[in-house]
Amino acid sequence: MKLLAVVIALVLATAGCGSAASPSPRQDGSPVPVTRPTPAATGDAPMPSPSETSSFPIPSSVDRDFADSDEMRRQRDQLVDSYIAPRVTDARVIAAMRAVPRHSFVPTQWLGAAYSDHPLPIGHGQTISQPSLVAMMTELLRLDEGDRVLEIGTSSGYQAAILGELTPEVYSVEIIPELAGIARVVLDRLGYGDVRIDRRDGYFGWEEHAPYDAIIVTAAPDHLPAPLVAQLDPDGGRLVIPIGPVGDVQVLWLVTRRGDEVAMERVLEVRFVPLTREEG
Ligand code: SAH
Repeated sequence: MKLLAVVIALVLATAGCGSAASPSPRQDGSPVPVTRPTPAATGDAPMPSPSETSSFPIPSSVDRDFADSDEMRRQRDQLVDSYIAPRVTDARVIAAMRAVPRHSFVPTQWLGAAYSDHPLPIGHGQTISQPSLVAMMTELLRLDEGDRVLEIGTSSGYQAAILGELTPEVYSVEIIPELAGIARVVLDRLGYGDVRIDRRDGYFGWEEHAPYDAIIVTAAPDHLPAPLVAQLDPDGGRLVIPIGPVGDVQVLWLVTRRGDEVAMERVLEVRFVPLTREEG
């Protein structure tokens, strides 16, 4: 009972990264009891992806459970049926949410809560985003297979894996080196080795691979970063981004670029961690 109370308190305390604020998706409010995996189920790290010159450390093992079971799939389907399918119409996005094992992106202590519609802590003060928000933001990108997409804020790597289900051209940047390293290991282990990760200040995007058909920002700046707009395809590139004050509710915007024209559409209120900036 005490353990469950701690779980609930932690989930509430961390509902600050990647959760919808308004209109609020239904939440069951009842995290599933935490279960511990057998030690054999947690993964040793594979070799670093050959595609990367590593700008971050690759850990030799990670505290993640890579086993997928009927029970995990059942919970994942239930999450999709209850919280994703009612909010998202794009069948490819729904299929991606059914395919990616979210439980492998969270520390093993959170396994039992992996398929609740909540953000969860993943260490270094960061979280994995709320699944229904991941799905809604992904749908807004309107990705076709072959589109090039950039994510700012890799964190757990979960959103990057969802993008990887939709197109082979996924680039993701993370400012915290340790998180980039863990995400690399997890993505490789689950077969998303083609997702490119770099450790850098995403305020400046990843110019080397621009232009992007779509950019998704999963941490909130207080203004629209000009470098991201500049790296969007001028012929209809889409940028999905939360903008607003630190520690407060932000507005999620869909930004569309046509030449030098930038159209901004307000989508909904959300809560994300702030986009931090490199010092100096
Ligand atoms: N997309 C993630 C959730 C994002 S949480 C997922 O699927 O799990 C926000 C992440 O943005 C954090 O990991 C944080 O470290 C990162 N971040 C914050 N500021 C950043 C910046 N300037 N550049 C790159 N990443 C940044």
